Formats: sequence, structure tokens, C-alpha cells
Amino acid sequence: MPRIDNDVKLDFRDVLFRPKRSTLKSRADVDLNCQITFRNSKKVYNGVPIVAANMDSTGTFEMAKTLSQFSLFTTIHKHYTVEEWVAFCKANPEAVKHIAVSSGTGEGDLAKLKQILGAIPEIEFICLDVANGYSEHFVEFVKRVRDQFAEHTIMAGNVVTGEMVEELILSGADIIKVGIGPGSVCTTRKKTGVGYPQLSAVIECAEAAHGLGGHIMSDGGCTCPGDVSKAFGAGADFVMLGGMLAGHTESGGDLIEQNGKKFKLFYGMSSSTAMKKHVGAVAEYRASEGKTVQIAYRGDVADTVRDILGGVRSTCTYVGASKLGELSGRTTFIRVNQQINDVYSAFNVGN
Ligand code: 5GP
Repeated sequence: MPRIDNDVKLDFRDVLFRPKRSTLKSRADVDLNCQITFRNSKKVYNGVPIVAANMDSTGTFEMAKTLSQFSLFTTIHKHYTVEEWVAFCKANPEAVKHIAVSSGTGEGDLAKLKQILGAIPEIEFICLDVANGYSEHFVEFVKRVRDQFAEHTIMAGNVVTGEMVEELILSGADIIKVGIGPGSVCTTRKKTGVGYPQLSAVIECAEAAHGLGGHIMSDGGCTCPGDVSKAFGAGADFVMLGGMLAGHTESGGDLIEQNGKKFKLFYGMSSSTAMKKHVGAVAEYRASEGKTVQIAYRGDVADTVRDILGGVRSTCTYVGASKLGELSGRTTFIRVNQQINDVYSAFNVGN
């Protein structure tokens, strides 16, 4: 007989922060910079732990160049050549501490990872990324990478439950990516019926990771700066964004003009668009679990970054956290039935 877990599991939109009395005068008093020491690599990270996803359109070198100026992080997508890597890192040495090399679990992926890290010893982060982090094969792969790169900080995922977070940390990963199905261009929940509401996944996985001295990255499902704050409030050490950073000058892909309006394509990494681009076609045994959307061009990403950072700083002042690292300790979420009044949303003409 199937088991049913009757505990309520929540998404970002099911909660709001309860404000708390605070001595902070303004959001300028809030420090978003975090210092984090990783469990397995023993390396120390300094930065604002908001991360561009390793998708074609957000994990670009152009994105990394701009985001690193704000001390934000970028997981670079896995389709650049070794030569392109070397050229970027030579030209942008200050960005190198804010980027990760992404890799899948194929032998070809591992060989390329070795080449890139061999060519650029300054790179400290590896992002091992599979749609389903529950396979034994993935755990074995994480162990192999840890054996070969003892001093690199390894991000690995994706999973949504505490026991798998623990297994990956004990296998050598430092930061576990959390999220199955919440992504803006993800269709996993529709195609497979599998998933976990993101806020609850983050709360449960953070508890598991922190108990072992590990860390987690909330990956997917943020639609606005308030969601980014909620992910941190729930205990995420890093928050990864795809859709919120898509559609900008720095995002990959051509600018499309239609009837005088500008758009950019944004697509899931297992959408047929991505598969056709990188592999030639959707493999027969798997359904495409991503979609392709055309979104309005949003200009330079720096403005969006300022908006996100301003929002997160403001959250911190409402709950009295002078540092981002204090936010989850000062968070009380209240469950809500409605979080936003959208009576005029169809008439919006600006901020
Ligand atoms: P977003 O911030 O857009 O809501 O979510 C971004 C995340 O969605 C990515 O970091 C990645 O984990 C996930 N993602 C990207 N492409 C796909 C896809 O094609 N299918 C699925 N299931 N998830 C995807």
C-alpha cells in the first residue's frame, strides 16, 4: 500500500516573514557578505551567496563578469571549450573566485573538468549537476571527484530530502543543491509527478546539512526578491537563480525583435531546445523535462541585481538581522492564504 505523508509541505508563496523589533536604522546597515568555511574542502568563501544557475542563458561568462562585481556567484554552464575558459579567466582574474565549473557525470564530462581545472588552478569550485541526485551512480561519481580534487569545493545535486543530503556530504560534497521540480522552465512535476515544495525542502535539507557541518543551495522556484529572502530565511546558505536572471544583456541567446518589442529565449536544460542544441536531439528513452519560453528583454542584469540585493537587505531590516548570516536565526514564517494584492497587476506601468 502506498504511504501518505500528511505533514504540510510549503512553498515560498505559502508564507511571509513576521516583522520583528529591530535596532537597524536603514537597509544600508545590512551586510550581505557572508564568510563560509566548507566542511570537506576546508576552503573559506567570501561573497554574497546568490548564484546564477548553470543554464545556457544564465551561466555565461558575461553574467559572471557582471555578477562578480557585486560579489555574486556564477556556476558556468558546461558548454564552453577549455580555450574559452582560459581566455575568460586570464581576462577576468577577479571573477575567478566567484565561479564554478559545471559537470555532468559522464566520462567525457569528467575529462573536460580535469582539463579546465588543470589549465586554471585558481578555480576553487566544482558544480556536479544531475536532474536526479538520488542514484547510486551519482554518489559514486561525487566520491570519485572528491578523491581526485581534494581541495576543491564541490557543489552537488539535486535532491530534496535530508537523508540524501547527508549521504552526499559524507561522500565528499560541500554544498548540496536542493530542488526537484520548482524551476520556472521545469516540467518535471508535470511529466513525472515527482517533487517537493521548495520552502519545506530547504528547511529540512538545511537542518540535515548543518548538522554535519555542510551547506545547502536552494535551487529553483524564486520568482521575486522576497522569495530569495525566504530561501535564506528557511536556512539556505546559497540561493541559485535561473529565471530571475534570464532575459538580460548578459544572458545567452539572441535578442529577438517582434513588432518593435525585444525578447530573449529562455529554456530548461533538458528542454528539447537545449537537447537539440547540445546533443542533436532528445534521447529516445527520456521525455523532455523542460520548456522553452520567450521573455521580454530586461536590459542589463546590474539593475536586476540591485533590485534583488535591495529587497534582501530590506527583509533583513524588517526582522532585525544586521548580516545575511543572521537572517534564518531571526526568521519566523507565518502561513498565509494570500501574500500579494494583485488587483492592479494588469494595469502595471512601472515601479
Ligand atoms: P528558476 O530559478 O528558473 O526557477 O530555476 C532554475 C533551476 O531550474 C536550475 O538551476 C535547475 O536546477 C532547474 N532546471 C533548469 N533547466 C531545467 C529543466 O530543463 N528541467 C528541470 N526539471 N529543471 C531544470
